[in-house]
Amino acid sequence: ANAYVGFDTITQQIEHKLLKRGFQFNVIVVGQTGLGKSTLINTIFASHLIDSKGRKEADEPVRQTTEIHPVSHVITENGVRLRLNIVDTPGYGDQINNENCWDPIVKYIKDQHSAYLRKELTAMRDRHIQDTRIHCCLFFINPTGHSLRPIDIIVMKKLSEVVNVVPVIAKADSLTLEERDAFKQKIRAELQYHNIRLYPFDTDENDEEEIELNESIRNMIPFAVVGSERNVIIDGKAVRGRKNRWGVVNVEDEKHCEFVYLRNFLTRTHLQDLIETTAQIHYEAFRSKQLLALKE
Ligand code: GDP
Ligand code: MG
Repeated sequence: ANAYVGFDTITQQIEHKLLKRGFQFNVIVVGQTGLGKSTLINTIFASHLIDSKGRKEADEPVRQTTEIHPVSHVITENGVRLRLNIVDTPGYGDQINNENCWDPIVKYIKDQHSAYLRKELTAMRDRHIQDTRIHCCLFFINPTGHSLRPIDIIVMKKLSEVVNVVPVIAKADSLTLEERDAFKQKIRAELQYHNIRLYPFDTDENDEEEIELNESIRNMIPFAVVGSERNVIIDGKAVRGRKNRWGVVNVEDEKHCEFVYLRNFLTRTHLQDLIETTAQIHYEAFRSKQLLALKE
């Protein structure tokens, strides 16, 4: 009768510990000035931001340098605490000569890996390490409807080697639905042609359902999104939207754009996997290279 050992409570123990600690999620946004990066981030998270601090001043003038700003927020939903770091990369691809404009971004990502490795090597084993490693890179594509710029291809390739890259078509309300779908197909073909392997990756651990979900994500990428920091009234209800002379774009309406798919993907289906993939694939690649170099 007394055979019950009780180790099955470990799931509750883990959950309790994790919930108390909260989760750290770090996102970097990359793309030309004016493509709606800040707006989209605010559309996804802003209504939940209860506490923000960072080096960025709201009315700072737009910089033409590639100075990189991390801003941290804390979001709480149903007792779960998410610590969110948003890293803005102003000015990427704005210059006439964009040669090596991705260097500071790649360096920033590697610097976080390097900082983590240093702490890992010195910290006491059971101490929690502050994690600033970038879990997701939102890459903003100009909604030209034609094709990717050569620089976008180069930069996505460089970034995909160090971080989970998630491409989005910015300001998708400027394309018709036909243009949008043709553009998406074109971009997927270009990514394939240039052998750019983007997140999500399938692993042996994935079950059938996860493989299917990842396949559907790959068929949807890049997400064609619209952002708005304002509410508009539709059928008497306030929704995130953009009003122009012809009508209203409801950001959260799947018939209008793919914002909801991106948000579901980022926060509801792949948040944990983005974090794990960063540790197990990107950080691990960095770490083994560094440790190998140390031995030589
Ligand atoms: P950032 O420089 O990439 O951070 O761009 P901002 O978020 O500051 O947005 C630049 C301008 O584009 C602002 O006037 C926004 O209101 C506008 N904007 C942002 N998102 C969208 C969008 O999805 N569609 C349209 N049409 N305009 C947008
Ligand atoms: Mg901005």
